[in-house]
Amino acid sequence: MGMKIDSLLIHGGTDGDVTTGAVNVPVYQTSTYRQDGLGENRGWEYSRTGNPTRAAAEKLVADLEQGKYGLAFASGLAAINTVLSLFETGDKLVVSDNIYGGTFRILDNVFNRFGITYTIVDTSDLSKVEAAIDDDVRAVYVESPANPLLTVTDIEKVAETAHRKGKLLIVDNTFLTPYLQRPLTLGADIVIHSGTKYLGGHSDVISGFVILNDKELADRLYYLQNAIGGVLAPWDSYLVIRGIKTLGVRMDRHVENAGRIAEWLLQSGYVSRVYYPGLKSDPGYEVQKKQADGAGAMISFVLDEKYDHRKFFRNLRIITLAESLGGVESLVCHPASMTHAAIPPEIRKEVGIVDELIRLSVGIEDAGDLIDDLKQAVENSVKEGK
Ligand SMILES: *Cc1c(COP(=O)(O)O)cnc(C)c1O
Repeated sequence: MGMKIDSLLIHGGTDGDVTTGAVNVPVYQTSTYRQDGLGENRGWEYSRTGNPTRAAAEKLVADLEQGKYGLAFASGLAAINTVLSLFETGDKLVVSDNIYGGTFRILDNVFNRFGITYTIVDTSDLSKVEAAIDDDVRAVYVESPANPLLTVTDIEKVAETAHRKGKLLIVDNTFLTPYLQRPLTLGADIVIHSGTKYLGGHSDVISGFVILNDKELADRLYYLQNAIGGVLAPWDSYLVIRGIKTLGVRMDRHVENAGRIAEWLLQSGYVSRVYYPGLKSDPGYEVQKKQADGAGAMISFVLDEKYDHRKFFRNLRIITLAESLGGVESLVCHPASMTHAAIPPEIRKEVGIVDELIRLSVGIEDAGDLIDDLKQAVENSVKEGK
């Protein structure tokens, strides 16, 4: 029976325990499994290779993304590491020009050493993607909206372009989650998540996922998952399943709050720039509306030059200065020195990650309280002599 996403969040995947009827998936805290005789097992051998709690999380996330196969990892980067391990020396990737700093780091400092290279392009410009795809390119790697400038890439169009040239499209869907955007249905071949963010949703677990439809590619990824070994632990699998049950209600509130805050920032007189694809004035607005069910809850902005961003961070009372995003609590960060410090200053400057850029992960607190907090923090951060 086809369920709508709000029901899938609760009843997707394996939905409880078939053996006892427990409504929750049990935490199979075991590393190994009894074998009845040589070569006779009950479907489970060793928990790096397979674990029922992890399998439940994998099936659930696959169902949500409308994919056939799901794989769970110990972190988003363990997921990315495994996907990048599909490639070989001499292969090249075309990558969005603003992406998660850790994704840039693993490409630049790890896979680069094995001769797997990358070209950075503004993937919101289709002609640039087209021009960057040469014979060596094996895949296009996109975040939409991208981190931290919320640049929107037309996933369907980039998928068409990549496929026409025989390349894969990989989409990191962390910022929107399958509740708001399902890249496989738009033509992507592989979807990646940091489950640490909205899927877990409570800032209490590190996790990653890969979802796809192609059987051959899935077999290779299962092989790599087991061979590399960066798997999600049983307890952490349980925490993600538990978090996902409330993904819908959380995302509705996240998006509503973010919309209010973005509109308020825009007319506040406090900022010189607001990046949020839910604003009509945002260059990504139309594409975002076409391909997703909401604009998400990440907002970036640049304070007007009369304010000191260091003072601003110090003044915040409800909103917490911290790495990460997607939790129920609002978090704020300074991309240039925190999440995107791994990107060399010249590249940061070129793509617009200026030193004054502030990234806000809007939580599900009262929106009025959040606006009041931002307001007092800005007003008390006027630079000396201004
Ligand atoms: C956090 C994040 C990652 C990395 O995930 P971890 O769980 O921290 O390893 C990858 N992509 C995006 C968009 C992220 O926000």
